[in-house]
Amino acid sequence: MRTVTVLGSGTSSGVPTIGCRCATCLSDDPRDKRLRPSLLVQSDTTTVVIDTSSDFRQQMLCCDVRSLDAVVYTHHHFDHIGGFDDIRAYNFFLNRPMSVYLMEETFAALRRTFIYAFEFSGQIGGGVPVVDTYIIDEKPFSIGDLTFAPIPLLHGSMRVNGYRIGNFAYCTDTNSIPDASIALLEGVEILILDALRYHEHPTHFTVDEAIKIAQRIGARTTYFTHIAHNIRHAELEDTLPEGIALSYDGLVIDIDI
Ligand SMILES: [Zn+2]
Ligand SMILES: [Zn+2]
Ligand SMILES: [Zn+2]
Repeated sequence: MRTVTVLGSGTSSGVPTIGCRCATCLSDDPRDKRLRPSLLVQSDTTTVVIDTSSDFRQQMLCCDVRSLDAVVYTHHHFDHIGGFDDIRAYNFFLNRPMSVYLMEETFAALRRTFIYAFEFSGQIGGGVPVVDTYIIDEKPFSIGDLTFAPIPLLHGSMRVNGYRIGNFAYCTDTNSIPDASIALLEGVEILILDALRYHEHPTHFTVDEAIKIAQRIGARTTYFTHIAHNIRHAELEDTLPEGIALSYDGLVIDIDI
């Protein structure tokens, strides 16, 4: 068994958005309830989460993730790292540091944001997340029997890592995929891709932009993620071209590694 599970298909504010009375935020459709972006990757022997979103605790409880081998980060925006402190639960439960794979610049930002976890405060007590960090560059790396190939993406002017795992790729938080990265995605059959909303945004693909890039990459199935409240699942899904769909929280997809 090799699967990925969409733990959060929402944008940084989550859907519903606090205080909003729009049709999506008031929708009864469970596919319109979107936690912050994260993905669970599982084989028979290895479990990895991509990003500790601001909803990490809830996501780990919902999916009953009792064993977690590592965390792999895409970038340091808070919706992707906000749940870092809850790694403590796994420190207690598994009795070991958590392995964390991330780019140098992501690590620098994580250290600034969660400074108490990396600098001794002078006082014992009040647990802090304990991690073993592995700095990654553009080379593929393995965690158990899962191999992650970094896919450099642009998120405005920021470098973000997408990841390819076998015939699957996860490319969130991007509005531009360089040609060299398109080449790294050749042969991908299942793709999860950023598609924030209908109108343009400086750091995320719009729905139309995401459709174009999905068709260029040519996966058998592309699922959109990082979806804002402007998009109602049922309303958009029927209008998407064949082979393109919206992801939703709890979606499980079989992959080949
Ligand atoms: Zn994000
Ligand atoms: Zn809304
Ligand atoms: Zn971001």
